[in-house]
Amino acid sequence: MSPDASHEVAPQAVHLKHFIAGKAVDASDGATMELFSPVTEELTGVAARGTAEDVDTAVKVSRAQLDGGEWSRLSGSQRGVLLNRLADLIARDAELIADMDAGCIGRMPIEPRLLDLPNAIETYRTSAGWADKIEGRTIPTPGYMGMQTLSYTQREPVGVVGAITPWNTPFMITAWKVGPLLAAGCTVVIKPSEETPNSALHLARLCKEAGIPDGVVNVVTGYGNVVGKALCVHPQVDKITFTGSPEVGAEIQRTAGPLFKRISLELGGKSPQIVFEDANLEAAVQGCAMGVFFNQGQVCAAGTRVLVQRPIAEKFAAMLAGAAQSIKTGQPGDEGVQMGPVAKKGQFERVNRYIRQGVEEGAKLLAGGTTEHTRGWFVRPTVFVDASNDMSIARDEIFGPVATVIPFDTEENAVRIANDSRYGLAATVWTSNVARAHRVAKGVKAGAVGVNCWAPIDARLPWGGMKTSGVGRECGLAGVLAYTEEKVITVLLAP
Ligand code: NAD
Repeated sequence: MSPDASHEVAPQAVHLKHFIAGKAVDASDGATMELFSPVTEELTGVAARGTAEDVDTAVKVSRAQLDGGEWSRLSGSQRGVLLNRLADLIARDAELIADMDAGCIGRMPIEPRLLDLPNAIETYRTSAGWADKIEGRTIPTPGYMGMQTLSYTQREPVGVVGAITPWNTPFMITAWKVGPLLAAGCTVVIKPSEETPNSALHLARLCKEAGIPDGVVNVVTGYGNVVGKALCVHPQVDKITFTGSPEVGAEIQRTAGPLFKRISLELGGKSPQIVFEDANLEAAVQGCAMGVFFNQGQVCAAGTRVLVQRPIAEKFAAMLAGAAQSIKTGQPGDEGVQMGPVAKKGQFERVNRYIRQGVEEGAKLLAGGTTEHTRGWFVRPTVFVDASNDMSIARDEIFGPVATVIPFDTEENAVRIANDSRYGLAATVWTSNVARAHRVAKGVKAGAVGVNCWAPIDARLPWGGMKTSGVGRECGLAGVLAYTEEKVITVLLAP
């Protein structure tokens, strides 16, 4: 994350260290990586640039807590008490944490305050509730070689987890992993994104303050191809839980897969929002605009393929373009500003490249367009019309504020276009016809479907993708069980 120009150091510049075994420590070789503000492009500080040796140290203390350490001796209800205490501490520091995450990526602080932090707190509380309810089953069988048996299952923690996270909503995504895995009795080494190490380190400090034993939650900061890779190949890591791009997800399957580690992947999306002519237009425009422009479009579930029934397509596109044009871009926190910059130079270039490609492929710009770089990685909220589902702006995850409006004729036609994608993370259906809403929700290949609401996430609801959008589910009971191994025990009842 290195801008072109030479940099002044912002006054609040920080020096972040790993958090291993309850202590802040430098990288084994003392190396650091630089952190920059996407708003001013100034150097804001440095963080430890982790090594494979740092990962090894963190994994070993994590392992020790499972192999007879204090953590392994706690009951589920005791883990629940600690998780609730952690949730209380996060609630105490919620604004601080929201501002940390927002500052790293130039996001409007109001967004993580309203969404990410409440969701994360709920995730730790819900996980606390599950901690003493991880049950087994008694399974009747005909017996063993003519003799009576008793068979039952129990769920055990999967072990040491390597949690690799992205930069777009870091504290919340980390909660979806750390809450459930602690409920299940696992330990963790977190590798936060190189852009957003701050809030994961704060979480680790709060875990210590809550009374979670040192070594249960560790953070090693640094680059993916070193720290992330070292976690994927470490012999004492039992599971990798990853949220990020499909490209890195595939790389993780290549490195951790052959070692038979358990792998959960939460990947990208190109989610459809399907607007029928009977929808409440005002609500659908507002919802679609939020689905495309929230967090500068840097959301896995961003509903950037806007499929609109032909009779209302032109009117709807004009309304969506109006919504895009009314968004004021600028320094987050300044009067009236509703959208900050994208997180980094690479994102800025990627979004502009796709907008250029959209125009070249024949789509028409109704709002926004490419942006010249000044200071800060600002891009314009953009709406394309006259587009088809085979254009790159409809097929690829841009991860920026770009909507592609595509008309459709019938319900079947809408479902077919929605499913004509390598992704399957989320979908939204805008309609006032209840039966149609259920039919379309059933027909769409996506892990989560919102009817008349975009991306309704909740700590109790499973979250995850079909097709290239991922493997496995986070949150809810599924999210906790993903951190367990099911064991069956059979007892011969012969006298
Ligand atoms: P990314 O894949 O570039 O990086 C994610 C993490 O992987 C980072 O911590 C990075 O350092 C690490 N990494 C990079 N190379 C690695 C390697 N070889 N081995 C191990 N780890 C490695 O993704 P990003 O740019 O940080 O995030 C954006 C992506 O995340 C988008 O595709 C978005 O859709 C996805 N995302 C998905 C969800 C979801 O719930 N499905 C949520 C948020 C973001």
